[in-house]
Amino acid sequence: MAPISLADSLTEKLAAIVGPENVARTATDRLVYEVDAFTMAKQPPAAVVHPGSTEEVQEIVRLANREGIPFVARGAGTGLSGGALVHAGGIVISLTRMRRILDIDIRNRRATAEAGVVNLRLTQQVVGRHFHYAPDPSSQMACTLGGNVAENAGGPHTLKYGVTTNHLLGLKMVLGNGEILDIPGDTDEPAGYDLLGIIAGSEGTFGIVTEVTVRLTRLPEAAQTALVVFSSVADATRCVSDIIAAGVVPAALELMDATIIKSVEGAFHFGFPLDAGAVLMREVRVARDENERERLWMCRKKAVGTLGRIAPSHCTMDGVIPRSKLPDVLELIADVAERHNLLIANLFHAGDGSLHPLILFDERNPEEVERVQKAGGEVLKACVEVGGTITGEHGVGVEKLEYMRFVFSENDIDTMARIRDVFNPARLCNPDKVVPPAAGLLEQAEGVN
Ligand SMILES: Cc1cc2nc3c(=O)[nH]c(=O)nc-3n(C[C@H](O)[C@H](O)[C@H](O)COP(=O)(O)OP(=O)(O)OC[C@H]3O[C@@H](n4cnc5c(N)ncnc54)[C@H](O)[C@@H]3O)c2cc1C
Repeated sequence: MAPISLADSLTEKLAAIVGPENVARTATDRLVYEVDAFTMAKQPPAAVVHPGSTEEVQEIVRLANREGIPFVARGAGTGLSGGALVHAGGIVISLTRMRRILDIDIRNRRATAEAGVVNLRLTQQVVGRHFHYAPDPSSQMACTLGGNVAENAGGPHTLKYGVTTNHLLGLKMVLGNGEILDIPGDTDEPAGYDLLGIIAGSEGTFGIVTEVTVRLTRLPEAAQTALVVFSSVADATRCVSDIIAAGVVPAALELMDATIIKSVEGAFHFGFPLDAGAVLMREVRVARDENERERLWMCRKKAVGTLGRIAPSHCTMDGVIPRSKLPDVLELIADVAERHNLLIANLFHAGDGSLHPLILFDERNPEEVERVQKAGGEVLKACVEVGGTITGEHGVGVEKLEYMRFVFSENDIDTMARIRDVFNPARLCNPDKVVPPAAGLLEQAEGVN
């Protein structure tokens, strides 16, 4: 009989907690968990487990602490900065079995749900009563509420409604050491420190969120979606600043450049003008009806997926800058693309100044990957130089660890590390993310390759 490997014995211990059918048994079953939507890094997990309750999550975290094994929470794996990548030898704790909506309280405008509930499903449950869950990442058909809290996710409607933290009322969480933190969501203004504020955006480095209580928002009485065509990205971005400066705040203000328009049109045949970029203002169109409005938004929200028509891989950068700097930084991005001989498409929440340059490449070509990394770093540095920062909504993950020093001093970083250690003292919960190691140690950091 073959000897039982360490990974096998870990899987057996996890199976004893969640039942044998809720652990991944083979390397093939675990394959999908070695990467998330940030395609530039991979790390195979030692084990993948699918708990069904807070108590099971707690047991898994206690096991990991006893044995000194790193672990990471995973929702749908749509994260764009490698946040759900596991540390070498670690356990992926997948929340997708925890997908019950526990309570919908329209009278108090709130809902409680398990962390693995898909974002859009919550809105689908309440839309018949004229409510919705306002944070709407473009990935909302797949991403989970737990992943949204961890990344403090935004979306096209952030301009009007804000990001996840503005809608988070309470949560249940298994901390890094296995203790349970329970913040009830029954009041709008809880006493004491704003723990929700610091947990939102902590990228799974504090613990594992198992339940959330969120605000439900009344649907607007009417909505119209206009498609405005410009001759150049520069004109479009100047218009964005002008609209906001004039005191008009639309619910959403999104920008697609010529590369994206062509790619989306090729996939969905909506009727986008393929010559956009050649005419200053070709048309101002108001969606004729709800059907057209929904189709237009479908094109926007599925736009990234269509880029597979142009290149096998893409890397979505995520800088945020003052709106007035959009024209300058878009010009700089074009220059970076040219210098590194790369195609960079732009699709972003322009109203928030939240940029998403999408660098198109082929991950099988290591030399090209190197150019992508250099180009990405230059773009983020430029964002910081004009008064912005390195992530608007996709998080630091592994992608931007090194770039944290563009923005924060060693003191700032040390303060963040100490806060993380309060929640996650043994640093086994999603190690080597968000907070870069002390200066000089970055290159020696082990783990995700
Ligand atoms: C096509 C596309 C469009 C996107 N558009 C947007 C957008 O408009 N706005 C936006 O903000 N983001 C967007 N994203 C990024 C991504 O969808 C969000 O960051 C989302 O919140 C991730 O959710 P997830 O469930 O997939 O989390 P994962 O990718 O599984 O995990 C992301 C991070 O959250 C942590 N995490 C997950 N679940 C938990 C939990 N229960 N407890 C603690 N930590 C947890 C993980 O450890 C990891 O660090 C987009 C991604 C894609 C692929």
